[in-house]
Amino acid sequence: MEKHNFSPESLMMSYGYKAELSEGAIKCPIFQTSTFVFKTAEEGKAFFEIAYGKRDKGPAEELGLIYSRVNNPDLEILENRLCLWDGADECAVFESGMSAISTVMLEFLRPGDLLLFGCPVYGGTDHFIRHVLPRFGIKVLGFPTGKPKEAIREILANSGMADKLAMIYMETPANPTNALTDIAGCKEIAIQYNSSEKNIPVVVDNTYMGPLWSHPLKHGADLVVYSATKYIGGHSDVIAGACLGSKELMTRVRTLRTFLGNMAGPWTAWLLMRSLETLKVRMEAQAAGARVVAEFLVNHPKVEKVYYLGFLTPENDPWQYSIHKKQYSSDGAMISFDIKGGEKEAFEFLNRLKLFKLAVSLGSTESLAQHPDTMTHSDMSVEDKLAIGITGKLVRLSIGIENPSDLVYAIGKALE
Ligand SMILES: *Cc1c(COP(=O)(O)O)cnc(C)c1O
Repeated sequence: MEKHNFSPESLMMSYGYKAELSEGAIKCPIFQTSTFVFKTAEEGKAFFEIAYGKRDKGPAEELGLIYSRVNNPDLEILENRLCLWDGADECAVFESGMSAISTVMLEFLRPGDLLLFGCPVYGGTDHFIRHVLPRFGIKVLGFPTGKPKEAIREILANSGMADKLAMIYMETPANPTNALTDIAGCKEIAIQYNSSEKNIPVVVDNTYMGPLWSHPLKHGADLVVYSATKYIGGHSDVIAGACLGSKELMTRVRTLRTFLGNMAGPWTAWLLMRSLETLKVRMEAQAAGARVVAEFLVNHPKVEKVYYLGFLTPENDPWQYSIHKKQYSSDGAMISFDIKGGEKEAFEFLNRLKLFKLAVSLGSTESLAQHPDTMTHSDMSVEDKLAIGITGKLVRLSIGIENPSDLVYAIGKALE
């Protein structure tokens, strides 16, 4: 038969699952089990040889099921499905986004190394970088998002630590201002400092735009990490994470995961498989709703400024516009805006806002609103917040799948 490449969304219901191995069940059951029975002692020996890297896999050999900290059918099928969206060789799923991020950093950084990272990053990541990594003798250096590679290169060169560079880490678009970073530009910087002893990985947290609208591996990233709690899970009912990349790097990530023991459980993996079936329809509906909301906000007299990727133009910001066109296939579903006034006006708006839930997190079916200055980003210093435009008047919205006209109605009422 002619070979046809099915789209990821067409494969999310079936890929990697063999019904005949599970009594014909159309859906992958939850393999709620800690350990797996070997058919023979020889089989057990062979599985361990592969799992512990004592010999290479034979041509038709797969890693057998041993113990659910090492592997489990729900995790493996979920990982295979996630690989399809990002075009990755391999994936490892974790019990949270933070566990994916911290495992990657611990695997690829050593005492004396320098981590160069885009600011701002997610609050938990920021804390891990600034307060946990230095305890292991790892140096960290931030660069502001929204700047071309020349500016990043200069910050690195001026630090006096460029020769210690061991990882470049970023979130793009940045939360909550939607400022962008050039992934290919960062890869060029990494290559510049590579040597025969080291290959500096570029790691992108793709939670904000992935895995539908952005595929960082295609732009030069070596590893992609996700909080699967957000769009991938999409229903505000599960905490999970994922990391994807080449076989070589993922073998290292997966091995450390085995020993930290922070893999996702089978029930979490099952929930994420269910979520993946609707990933594309959800995210497309969310992006369409966000456009309607953004256009309403930008014309509203009580709104000072709207931060939304769809408003970048070749005229108002040629550099960020070009990065947007290169890296993303959508304007996303995250909007921030400055309300006229300050914290008082922002709080009045949030307290009056109907239909939206007042909560942190993002990417879910229900729309959420929050106040970065006093909530998600309250841990940052005032100067750092000001430098990236987080003030008392900033409100962040995550658009869900409600009827956009209802969202606009609710916002209009709360702004009145
Ligand atoms: C939520 C989030 C994380 C952390 O993920 P958890 O699943 O909460 O551990 C990391 N990065 C980004 C961009 C996030 O939004």
